[in-house]
Amino acid sequence: MRINVYIGLGSNMGCKRRNIETAIEYITKIPGVNLVKKSSLYETEPWGKTDQDKFLNQVIMIETDSGADELLDRLLETEIKMGRQRFEKWGPRVIDLDILLYGNQVIRTERLRVPHPHMRERLFVLIPLQEIGTELRFPDDGVTIEEVLSRVLARDGNTDIHKI
Ligand code: ATP
Ligand code: CA
Ligand code: CA
Repeated sequence: MRINVYIGLGSNMGCKRRNIETAIEYITKIPGVNLVKKSSLYETEPWGKTDQDKFLNQVIMIETDSGADELLDRLLETEIKMGRQRFEKWGPRVIDLDILLYGNQVIRTERLRVPHPHMRERLFVLIPLQEIGTELRFPDDGVTIEEVLSRVLARDGNTDIHKI
């Protein structure tokens, strides 16, 4: 069965735009994966650990036959192939690939949490996701992306995320 999966991409080292493009090429080559939609690219202020370079972020939608665990393996391999090293939590990275939503599934294992645990607070995820998935709902509480996004915007405003 084909499952719609939303993946968040981020880069804040080297040629960020190229890194995002390269990662999408790798993802497209994963067996059983079809690229369906891409959001615009967004330039965003760092989140969580703010003393680092700005990010480029994008969200894509793929269709896949791959199980969630297997897809995570392929994404982590892609990060490593592209030179990702982990020095500190939320530190600078060549590429970061997060599974945001995997069909309607709620996954809570040691290595994989879907919906992505921080996505409800992250405008750099919510804004591009809303751009390509207007009707989407969170599978755990049924709330739409749009509602979550408007709540965060009403509370915090948006000075940090710009479409480029
Ligand atoms: P954050 O998860 O807060 O966005 P991060 O992306 O910087 O932080 P990483 O170092 O890239 O964190 O990932 C650490 C681990 O998170 C991965 O090895 C993976 O096992 C786990 N993980 C849990 N849920 C997910 C998910 N939905 N997508 C990607 N990785 C996940
Ligand atoms: Ca991340
Ligand atoms: Ca990650």
